[in-house]
Amino acid sequence: MACLICKDLERTLDFRRSKYFEARSAAYFQVSTKLAAQKNVDMERAKSDLEEHQLACASAAKARQSLSKSPEAALDSGR
Ligand SMILES: [Zn+2]
Repeated sequence: MACLICKDLERTLDFRRSKYFEARSAAYFQVSTKLAAQKNVDMERAKSDLEEHQLACASAAKARQSLSKSPEAALDSGR
């Protein structure tokens, strides 16, 4: 459905996010809060890469439109 770039960026974001949570939970064991902060930066960067691409991506725009019709998506995005 989504274009390959979207998929790739989403995969990167998922990966970075899991690394961040991993580092963050490690921080509770006094390993390194600096590492967690760095992972957070990495994750935010991946997120903005994805968002930036999605602005220009037709298939992402289509996906957003169909998502906004589903009640689950509304719950998800309607903070
Ligand atoms: Zn795309």
